Amino acid sequence: INGNIMPGKAEIGGWGEGEGEERVNLAEQSLLNKLIRRSLVRNRNQVEVLQADPNSPLYSVKTFEELRLKPELLKGVYNMGFNRPSRIQENALPMMLAQPPQNLIAQSQSGTGKTAAFSLAMLSHVNPDNKWTQCLCIAPTYELALQTGQVIEQMGKFCPDVKLAYAIRGNRMERGVKLQEQIVIGTPGTVHDWCTKYKLIDPKKITMFVLDEADVMIATQGHRDQSIRIHRQLPMNCQMLFFSATFEDSVWRFAEQIVPEPNIIRLKREEETLDTIKQFYVNCKEKEDKFTALCNLYGALTIAQAMIFCRTRKMAAWLTESLTKEGHQVALLSGEMTVEQRAAVIERFRSGKEKVLVTTNVCSRGIDVEQVSLVVNFDLPVDLDGNADNETYLHRIGRTGRFGRRGFAVNMVDSQHSMDIIKQIEMHFDRKIIKLDTSNLEEME
Ligand code: ADP
Repeated sequence: INGNIMPGKAEIGGWGEGEGEERVNLAEQSLLNKLIRRSLVRNRNQVEVLQADPNSPLYSVKTFEELRLKPELLKGVYNMGFNRPSRIQENALPMMLAQPPQNLIAQSQSGTGKTAAFSLAMLSHVNPDNKWTQCLCIAPTYELALQTGQVIEQMGKFCPDVKLAYAIRGNRMERGVKLQEQIVIGTPGTVHDWCTKYKLIDPKKITMFVLDEADVMIATQGHRDQSIRIHRQLPMNCQMLFFSATFEDSVWRFAEQIVPEPNIIRLKREEETLDTIKQFYVNCKEKEDKFTALCNLYGALTIAQAMIFCRTRKMAAWLTESLTKEGHQVALLSGEMTVEQRAAVIERFRSGKEKVLVTTNVCSRGIDVEQVSLVVNFDLPVDLDGNADNETYLHRIGRTGRFGRRGFAVNMVDSQHSMDIIKQIEMHFDRKIIKLDTSNLEEME
């Protein structure tokens, strides 16, 4: 898909068989999150706001009514089941709807309401009587553009005069005939072609430009430059809106190129903690021995929902097969599955159809499965040098305060090296990891 493979973290096959190397694909991860998400991710952190003009009053809203939207748009918002603006929307919406127009850079983790916010802004911004393109929105991939397009369509359900076009590959258009759709969403390459080569859009008439998922965009070969090329054709007074889930330096530099005199809104993600987790380790010899230990744990496993992490696809497949042979019902999340297949597996697990999910780390990174109360590290998380990967460990078993439920983590230790890793993790977090005897599980009570 658009050749968007992220260089970067790789999962290295253990046991010298060179198996199952997986790469994190940011665009896929983002799509997966969108497919499985049904509601807002709650976040109790304070929103940080940095105004372009610190002397101008700072508006925030607690209700959608306060925004004085067109009634048909307000109806669309309520029809989506939104009762009140999310944390980030409270500040972002009045800024995006302000007159004269203001530029915005907004950062918050996925699921906090960014897409809904700029969809609303675009729908509110356009003049339906003008039959030309006024808002341009670019997204990193075909699928992500479609997802956002669906949000715009749903929210604009009662605005029949506002039309949306998709500038994505395969969508053939007649050259030189100007589009009548007020909103165009697409990928940078096709949007650029539509503006320049095919002249379907007059970029000089664009008054709102939205760049979504900036972090994914810059991780995708060529997308950054295409975005800047589109941006150069826009008029000076075009309102620029820029969104990202993360904000490392490269994203920031990109933002500065796209958004002059920005207002900046940030919402830090809630920190994960190990405080509500009881951590154990089990001594095992090799994978068969780990499997036996796991089967002994199984009674405890199936009480609640459990996730089991393996290092490679191959190990995850072997473990799933072995557990299934023993008559257990397990789901497998694996890198060779399509994003849709993975979303379906996670949905089933979430709804409790399967109690145990076996997965590799890459596959499940960034997915919150709130009801999981037991995590088993069948393989310990290590970095490329074989040292403890504390960050991944925390992601796997940590919880944010909001769930606060108690949980258990069981680590399988199969060598002196893995014992050293356990020690490293203990030191790093300053939390004891207790030895567990799986033939006597009283410690877990
Ligand atoms: P992001 O773009 O930050 O990932 P989304 O806009 O996709 O977040 O929102 C995440 C989920 O929350 C979606 O299912 C969306 O429909 C829902 N949502 C967004 N805004 C609200 C709101 N104000 N009230 C309730 N649900 C909302």
